[in-house]
Amino acid sequence: MQIIENVHLKPYNTFGLDAQATHYAEAASIAELQTLLHAGIQPTRILGGGSNVLILQDLPGLTIRNTMRGIEIARRFKNRVWIKAGAGENWHGLVLWTLANNLGGLENLSLIPGTVGAAPVQNIGAYGVELKDCFVSLEAVELKTGKIQHFSKKDCQFGYRDSVFKGALKGQYCIASVTLSLTSANHRLQLGYGDIRRQLEMSGIQNPEITDVSRAVISIRSSKLPDPATIGNAGSFFKNPELDAAVLDRIRQTHPNAPHFPLPDGRVKIPAGWLIEQCGWKGRRVGQTGCYDKQALVLVNHGNAQGAEVWALARAIIESVQARFAVRLEPEVNLWP
Ligand code: FAD
Ligand code: NAP
Repeated sequence: MQIIENVHLKPYNTFGLDAQATHYAEAASIAELQTLLHAGIQPTRILGGGSNVLILQDLPGLTIRNTMRGIEIARRFKNRVWIKAGAGENWHGLVLWTLANNLGGLENLSLIPGTVGAAPVQNIGAYGVELKDCFVSLEAVELKTGKIQHFSKKDCQFGYRDSVFKGALKGQYCIASVTLSLTSANHRLQLGYGDIRRQLEMSGIQNPEITDVSRAVISIRSSKLPDPATIGNAGSFFKNPELDAAVLDRIRQTHPNAPHFPLPDGRVKIPAGWLIEQCGWKGRRVGQTGCYDKQALVLVNHGNAQGAEVWALARAIIESVQARFAVRLEPEVNLWP
């Protein structure tokens, strides 16, 4: 573990943006992290797999990549187990490990890039399942003091692609490990979302197992989403707006077929990708950046884009959706610095 100066971050963010960190280090354990914090270089930022950040310029201070590994069964119950995973573990690697051990709960979250430690930060979600559905607790280190603290599910204040670590405690903690509760028998499959059922039918699967659901999700995702190894991106750039029903009524006066999903609190969710597509952005290229042709919610780096160029495109999209629908899109991606 050492602090290195002026490190190029291109290999460490899935947008493939070439900014530099003035100071960079990797922490493979809580003790290493505490030693790095002791150096007192400010500000301190925690990087996982870099799949949810847009780096706008060179990063001052200390950027610490979390490489804390390890997966273990922490407790066994009759039909359930608790697993504890190091924050630096690859998320999809963890999902595959659970499937290999016949543990259910994470199959719908297959193939999400990034690390275990970042998963609670935005309460990762896909195909009707969110991290909070199986979350038990996490262990984190306060960056200011180096003290270890435990957070329960309630403490994390999970919301839609949101948690206390994106809100009141933003940038204040490094998550070190996460404990999840998974089924070891009587798995409860979530098939009612998106194309999962159709994909299973197409594969001729009548009575799916958790591994079948994972395979279906992987297949759908691979056909729709750009692989960051081929084309730089950070997944959905914007959150899906959650709006009052009256806003939907207004939009439907001009767009009767506007897709929407009811929320438990009476509001509705409108896919941001649809709003962006209606404004003509889908597949459009602007210099080295653009809007992905198979999913308008994803902004891409066609080669050598700078973070500021991607952000300029994002702002133009926000303004045009605002002008046409009077709906303000919010980035889901974290803007650095
Ligand atoms: P990073 O990008 O490294 O960091 C993201 C934020 O978390 C930063 O603010 C960082 O400071 C903070 N952070 C990271 N690690 C820690 C830690 N240990 N402690 C404290 N803070 C930390 N997201 C979904 O929710 N659902 C999806 O289906 C999905 N699909 C995607 C598909 C593609 C192709 C891509 C590129 C992204 C997708 N994402 C999705 C977004 C992204 O993968 C997730 O948000 C993921 O959890 C980010 O993990 P990361 O390790 O790369 O985080
Ligand atoms: P999709 O299936 O084409 O659906 C488009 C949007 O409609 C999604 O954003 C989803 O909202 C919503 N939706 C679809 N079916 C729904 C239902 N039955 N109930 C409520 N909402 C529904 O989306 P996609 O782009 O292919 O993505 C599939 C899943 O992976 C989604 O859950 C999406 O969030 C997730 N994903 C996330 C990212 C990311 O970076 N955050 C990137 C890629 C995919 P939700 O987004 O709220 O689920």
